[in-house]
Amino acid sequence: MEKLKYERPVIKKINAGVPDKYGMQSKTQAVTEIDGVGVKKIIEQYGSPVFVISEKTMRKKYSEARRAFSTRYPKVQFAWSYKTNYLDAVCKVYHSEGSWAEVVSGFEYDKAIANGVKGKHIIFNGPDKSVEDLQKAIKNGSLIHIDHFDELYTIVEISETSKQTPKLAIRINMDTGVYPRWDRFGFNFENGEAWNAINKIMINDNLELVGLHTHIGTYIMTPNAYGVASTKLVGLIMRISEKYNHQIKYIDMGGGFASKNTLKGAYLPGADTCPSFDAYAEAIINPIINSEISPQNLPILFLETGRALIDDAGYLLGTVIANKRLANGRRSTIIDIGVNMLFTSFWYEHDIKPAQIPSQQTEDTTIYGPLCMNIDVIRAAIQFPVLQKGENVVISRIGAYNMTQWMQFITLRPKILLIDTNSNVHIIRESETNEIFKRSERVPEHLVNVGL
Ligand SMILES: *Cc1c(COP(=O)(O)O)cnc(C)c1O
Repeated sequence: MEKLKYERPVIKKINAGVPDKYGMQSKTQAVTEIDGVGVKKIIEQYGSPVFVISEKTMRKKYSEARRAFSTRYPKVQFAWSYKTNYLDAVCKVYHSEGSWAEVVSGFEYDKAIANGVKGKHIIFNGPDKSVEDLQKAIKNGSLIHIDHFDELYTIVEISETSKQTPKLAIRINMDTGVYPRWDRFGFNFENGEAWNAINKIMINDNLELVGLHTHIGTYIMTPNAYGVASTKLVGLIMRISEKYNHQIKYIDMGGGFASKNTLKGAYLPGADTCPSFDAYAEAIINPIINSEISPQNLPILFLETGRALIDDAGYLLGTVIANKRLANGRRSTIIDIGVNMLFTSFWYEHDIKPAQIPSQQTEDTTIYGPLCMNIDVIRAAIQFPVLQKGENVVISRIGAYNMTQWMQFITLRPKILLIDTNSNVHIIRESETNEIFKRSERVPEHLVNVGL
């Protein structure tokens, strides 16, 4: 018999805790593989830390979302929210599923074009579109979602000399019962600005109002908020139809569906509280189909879902650097994953698990990243197995926003891998090197030879 490994005894307080829907969690599970590829093998081959995206999970989540909406409504079109994750390979998976592109800057717009998306399949949101961006979008027949009156007047000016009629929608913010209200983007519904913007577009022969857009917030836990938003937009469609005898072609309900991540301070795990796509679909679609809009004039329903589609498909694999005791006797584990590459750790209690079958001995642990910065905390308090230096960890549900909001701070950004549906591993972004920084930095002549 193999000699058992020594484990230092600890006294643990029994804590009844909050059970999830499967009851109390009794064992720490390990994540040893992703889509059939061993976690340790991935780290051996590609280094640590490393991001991994599961194409299988991406496609599965997308088909779940599409099914929820298209089984309830005949005209549904998803548009991939670029800022949620704009790696070309990621965008192309969604485009291959039929998803259009939703962009919020000139940079993202050009990325979508380079990814082969036709101009007319790009939805252009955001408060900062330059004159050049707008000219390009008008020429390409993209759907421009106006954020403020200054943008509208710029478009009016461009339209006076433009051959193409700009295809416009306005972004509308409103009280949906979720607070704090997101009222900084678009035109407000309640104070009449949205109606004012609609009239300014409708009376201008050079412009075409094709849609109404709202994006009520992000990580919205109450489907009913979408029901309120959808009802308000339907009201505007009716009003436009009555006043101008003009049919609005689409309603865009934006993104914002919650993912299964657990927010800091949440009482129950996100996996138990996150509403289903069906619940969101029901809330959004009922006010449209139950309205007085005649069936042949039903608008296309656009969805710009980001987080809820990609979060579950992303993993961050890392390695334990060291363990130490804090001043109060608490265990702390330092891993090579810092908040510089896990931006969402500021608001999520990330799901971190060992990559090898762990000892069932757990201890209340603080998990730190490797940065020389006090706020580099991945989990402030977690019952975690006692891992040794060199052992691996897997953080799940990190596909949304981390690979776009990451910072180049203290360490270089690591590789990103995609595991395709046949379990083949592809590098979809190389790790950064000092060379990349050298390329864009310049040292003035008098500092070239400092002679130390
Ligand atoms: C960020 C954003 C989205 C995506 O939001 P998620 O919360 O990731 O679903 C959609 N539309 C607009 C306009 C956005 O700014």
